[in-house]
Formats: sequence, structure tokens, C-alpha cells
Amino acid sequence: MFWDKKIETLKTDDLQALQLKRLKKTISQAQKVGFFKKRLSDAGITASSIKTLDDIQKIPFTKKQDLREGYPFGFFAVPLKEIVRIHTTSGTTGKPTVVGYTKKDLDVWADLIARNMTMVGVGKEDIFQNMVNYGMFTGGLGFHYGAEKIGMTVIPSATGNTKRQIEMIRDFGVTTIHCTPSYAMHLSEVAEEMGESLDSLKTGIFGAEPWSESVRHSLEKRLGVTAFDSYGLSELFGPGVAFECKERNGLHIWHDSYLVEIIDPNTGERVSDGERGELVVTPLVKEAMPLLRYRTGDVTMLIEDGCLCKRAQKIARITGRSDDMLVIRGINVFPSQIEHVLLKIPEVGNQFMVYIDRINYLDEMTVEVEINRDFFSGELTDLAKIQKKVGKELRDSLELRTTVRLVEPGSLPRFEGKAKRVIDRREVI
Ligand SMILES: [Zn+2]
Repeated sequence: MFWDKKIETLKTDDLQALQLKRLKKTISQAQKVGFFKKRLSDAGITASSIKTLDDIQKIPFTKKQDLREGYPFGFFAVPLKEIVRIHTTSGTTGKPTVVGYTKKDLDVWADLIARNMTMVGVGKEDIFQNMVNYGMFTGGLGFHYGAEKIGMTVIPSATGNTKRQIEMIRDFGVTTIHCTPSYAMHLSEVAEEMGESLDSLKTGIFGAEPWSESVRHSLEKRLGVTAFDSYGLSELFGPGVAFECKERNGLHIWHDSYLVEIIDPNTGERVSDGERGELVVTPLVKEAMPLLRYRTGDVTMLIEDGCLCKRAQKIARITGRSDDMLVIRGINVFPSQIEHVLLKIPEVGNQFMVYIDRINYLDEMTVEVEINRDFFSGELTDLAKIQKKVGKELRDSLELRTTVRLVEPGSLPRFEGKAKRVIDRREVI
């Protein structure tokens, strides 16, 4: 169950010594990038002024906006001839962020994916269908090479044509799938419509968007898999940064490769142990594109307790992004919380959309959800009852009054990539 047992189970002292050595090397590498050279010089920092891991706090944060301003190759620390691949992030706003890899980077990255997949118990006897975008999105090629490295049989099915995906799972005897949780939900719906039970499936790896425990239970029940959460982002290679082990209680983050901090997104100060905040990562093994204290925007907390699998520290599942957290009438709401509530109500489906408007200076949240036909007799009084129930459950959980709109089954958009379930109409563009 270990890909690299020695490094995955390093004792704290040895781990910290390795982290410090790699941090110094990363700082030297970063100094080859104009942006960091200036930043570090302004802050009076060199690799030799970092004596302990805590000294990292003297280094200013790097934000996504900084990377955008370096478009396209401003953050490469090696000559372009050393770069063997380029990816870009999905870039929902502004220019995309370009990330580059040397040959060594690709090898290290594949190795991290191999660690993750071995940890959840899949190996060379498994058949792996990779149902994510194979283009600029790092999830496709990232998982592809990691899975090949451990000798799995890889089916690069990419996204789209759900019926064909289901036929391949059936015909090829696929045991392991990787996709976004929202696509997995869609896949399970289509499989049910087709009358396919997908009996060969055993393991589901889901990532690229936050998802809840309720979705996990639902996916496990519908697809017959054990579902694991995968975390990563393109700026840190891609997927493979952190992953659940078989305990499925937090994600192991690979400390030899990523130095983590949790900060208060507003003050930039580190939060106390066990408190939630924004994940800040300094990758320790990147060659082409070193980063220092990169603000991920993802909200999580550190879990210090030892894990039965003997690997080091974990982070909790991501509850949202510090920048997609909705503030509605002063109340913080994560879309995953809404999903969590809806999944517990059998009268409605699991697809939903959230609209936020400002009416007479007041924020109004509307949740659209599909009705489940099994619970709907066609009577209008029934509809009113269900609507009231959903509204009450949401209010109890979010402490927020919400308008509920019931819609026809199958009428809401299905997402094959990252789900965009929130439409915030308050902003003036
Ligand atoms: Zn573990």
C-alpha cells in the first residue's frame, strides 16, 4: 500500500530537515525568476537567511494575480528549451495562468500521482478510465502518466459522450474511474436510465471541485465504488498534492514536496491549530516554475492526529474557496453546504443552481432544484409541501431564508468539468 514507504513515513525530525533543505533550494531556484528576485531582495531574504521552517513567514505571499501578470512565461526559472510541457489553468477571469514543466518535473509529478493511487489500493491489475479533460487541464495527463507509472491499464476516455463512457466501463471491465464528483453523479443517472449496473467498478477518484460527505455516500451507493477525494491545482503541478487514504478522514498532503500553512485570508496571519483558513503552499520540488507561499484560495484546516496508515499530517476536505465563499446578508455560505442539505431530502434531486440577487438593497438567494417524480403525485398541494420542506431544511442549516424553486427533472444543467452552480447577479460588471 506504499509507493515510496521511506519518504511517505519519514519521522518528523527527518522530514523537517528535508523540508528546510528543499526550501532553501527552492528559494535559490525562485531567484532565477525576475518577480521573485525583486520580491526577495526587497524583503532582504536570501536562501541563507532562512534558518528554520518558521522563517518562511518572512517571505511575501504569491497570488494568482501575480502569476497572471507574468503571462505567458514570466515565471519560468529555466530556459524555454528545458520546458517540455505547458498547461494553463481554467482561468475563469482574466488571462489564464501558464504553468511549465521540465522533464524532471513531469517525472516527480507522475511519482506523486503513483503514491496517491497506490495508497488507495489500486495497482497494475486495475483498469482505469480517466474521464476528465485531456487538454490544458492538468487532471487528464497528470493522472494518465501516474497511472501508467504503476502499470494500470489506462483508458484515456476524456470527457463527453456519457453513454459511450458507460459502455466502455462495461465492455472493458473498468475497476477504477477518475472524474469530477458532479460528472460522476451525472454518469450514475445516465447508467440508471440505461439499466447498466456497472458491476466491475470498485474505486472512484473524484476531485477538482469541493464535494460533501453526502455526495460521497450517494456516489458510493449508486456506482458501487469506494470514493476517494483528490486535491491539487495546476500551479502546484496539478492533481496529486493531497489525497485521501483508506481511512477517508482527511487528505494526506505530501510534506516532502509541499510545505503547507493555513492563514486567515483577511489578515494573512497563520490561524491557530485546528482552525479553518486558506491553504498556502510552497512547493519544494518544482524546477521549471518554483513558487513561494502560494495562496491557493482553498479553505481547509490541518489535522494533526496520527493516521492509522502511518503517513504524516493531513488536511481536511476543502469546504470551498476563500473567494467563492458566498456572503449573503452577512452570513457565510458554501455551495457544498446547500448540496449537503438537498441530498438529505428524497423529494428532490441532486442537481441544483443558486442565484443571488440584490433586491431593495437586500441579498436574496434562490435555489433551484429538480423534483423527484417518485414523490410527486401531480397535485399542486404536493408541490407547495415539498417547496416548504426544502425551504425549512435550508433555513435550519444555513440560518438563511431562501426562495426555493422546484423545476422539472433533468432540466438543470449537468457539468462535465467544474460545476458552476452559483450565479451571483449582485456584482456590477
Ligand atoms: Zn492515512
